[in-house]
Amino acid sequence: MNAARRIVSGAVSLAKGLGVTISYLFRKKVTLMYPEERPVLTERFRGVPALPIDPATGRDRCIACSACARVCPQRVITVTPEVGEDRKRRLGDFTLDVAGCIFCGLCAEVCPTGALTMSGEFELAHGSRVDMVLGLEKLREIGGQFPVEPPGSESAEGEAGQDLAAPPADAPSGESGAAGKEAQ
Ligand code: SF4
Ligand code: SF4
Repeated sequence: MNAARRIVSGAVSLAKGLGVTISYLFRKKVTLMYPEERPVLTERFRGVPALPIDPATGRDRCIACSACARVCPQRVITVTPEVGEDRKRRLGDFTLDVAGCIFCGLCAEVCPTGALTMSGEFELAHGSRVDMVLGLEKLREIGGQFPVEPPGSESAEGEAGQDLAAPPADAPSGESGAAGKEAQ
């Protein structure tokens, strides 16, 4: 009798398991044939922080204030300001060690000009850690370019007529400022 019960119980379990398997045959598949098939990223996906080009000026919007470097909990951002011929501070170099980045988005959040954005780039495999230190050109390349008319937040567009190559009015100027210290 016990043996008969066990057989029936086993058969019921088997039927339930097969039922689950068969039900998945008719559901929409969630696996992708990556990399041939690409995932659709959500609008607020946080990939590599990047420096998109502003089509209006043909350059990025970074003013080398170093706010992103200061707020970064991982200390993976290095901003190197330089002084242009007009004696205004501008961005000289920018590096980001993506191997240490935790994609928290704080750097993009604090950026006063909206220069730094969280891109959709998620393919980060490299042969060595050295290759994971992304320079200015690579960050511009990842960032692509802003929409021709950026969706209007004041921080993304800056003040009307503002020279984005110049530091903000309340920021220290020249290499003796905070950004200059950061670069040293
Ligand atoms: S996303 Fe976070 S960890 Fe990565 S660079 Fe920005 S502030 Fe640093
Ligand atoms: S916070 Fe923005 S403007 Fe300032 S250095 Fe970083 S990217 Fe450039």
